[in-house]
Amino acid sequence: MGLRIQDLTKEYGDTTALSGVSFEIPDGSFAVVLGESGAGKSTLLRILNGLTEPTSGGVYLDGQEITNSRSDVGMVFQQHNLADELSAYDNALTGTFNRTGFVRSLLNLQPVEDRELALEALETVGLLDEAGQRVDRMSGGQQQRVGIARALVQQPALLLADEPVASLDPASAEAVMTCFRETAKKRDLTTLASLHQVNIAREFGEQFIGLKDGEVMFVGSRSELTPSI
Ligand code: ADP
Ligand code: ADP
Repeated sequence: MGLRIQDLTKEYGDTTALSGVSFEIPDGSFAVVLGESGAGKSTLLRILNGLTEPTSGGVYLDGQEITNSRSDVGMVFQQHNLADELSAYDNALTGTFNRTGFVRSLLNLQPVEDRELALEALETVGLLDEAGQRVDRMSGGQQQRVGIARALVQQPALLLADEPVASLDPASAEAVMTCFRETAKKRDLTTLASLHQVNIAREFGEQFIGLKDGEVMFVGSRSELTPSI
C-alpha cells in the first residue's frame, strides 16, 4: 500500500511551510521530493519522521496512521553523522541503538541477531567486503551507503533521506542514488529522499513529488514525468 500523505499543512506563525500537501507513494518504490530552498522539503521530512507536528493533516503507512510517530522510520542525513574512527560494521551496528541501547553495542555485547542485521545491511548496500574498514578511510559515497546500512539495521518500514547527495561529487551521488533505488527494491522498503538537483532526481528516482512554496506542483511516476520538471 505504501505511503499516503493527506492534506498536510504546517504553519510557523505567519509562514505557511506546507499547504494542503497530498500524495501517495507505492510500496517499495524510491520517491524523490524536488523543490528549491524554502519549498518545504525539510518540513515535510520532519513531519514524516515525527520530529515536527503538522498543523493539520495525516500520514499513513500501509494503511496505518503514523502522524507524530517516530517508530518504523529510518533516516539518512546530508552529513552522514558516522563515527569516523569506527568501522563500517560498527557504524551499522549503532543502528540498533533505538531497540537495544548504545552501551550494549559499545561493550561488544550485542546479540547475534544484531550482528546479522548489520552484516545483512552492509550486504544490501554493497559494502560487505568493506565491513572492517574505518569509515574515515572511505569515499563520501561509501560513507553515505554506510549511513543507509545503519538506517536499515533499525528495520524501518519507511526510509527517509534529507538531501542525501547534496555534498557529494557526481559519481558518488550516482552511486548513492542507485543504492537507494536498489535497497528499496531488495527490501520492499518505501523510500523518500529530498533533492534539489533535478537531473539526478530524474535519472534515478521512480516517483516524483514537486514542491513549490509549500504546495504540490507535480506528482507522478517516471512515465508521467513531463519535460518541464
Ligand atoms: P534547508 O533549505 O537546508 O532546509 P533552511 O535554511 O530552510 O535550510 O533551514 C535550516 C534550519 O533552520 C531548519 O532546521 C529550519 O527548521 C530552520 N528554519 C528555517 N527557516 C526558519 C525560520 N524562518 N525561522 C526559524 N527557523 C527556521
Ligand atoms: P526546504 O527544506 O525546501 O528548504 P523548509 O521546509 O526548510 O524548506 O522551509 C519551508 C518554509 O518554512 C520556509 O519559508 C522556511 O523559512 C519556513 N520554516 C522552516 N522551518 C521553520 C521554523 N522552524 N520556524 C519558522 N519557519 C520555518
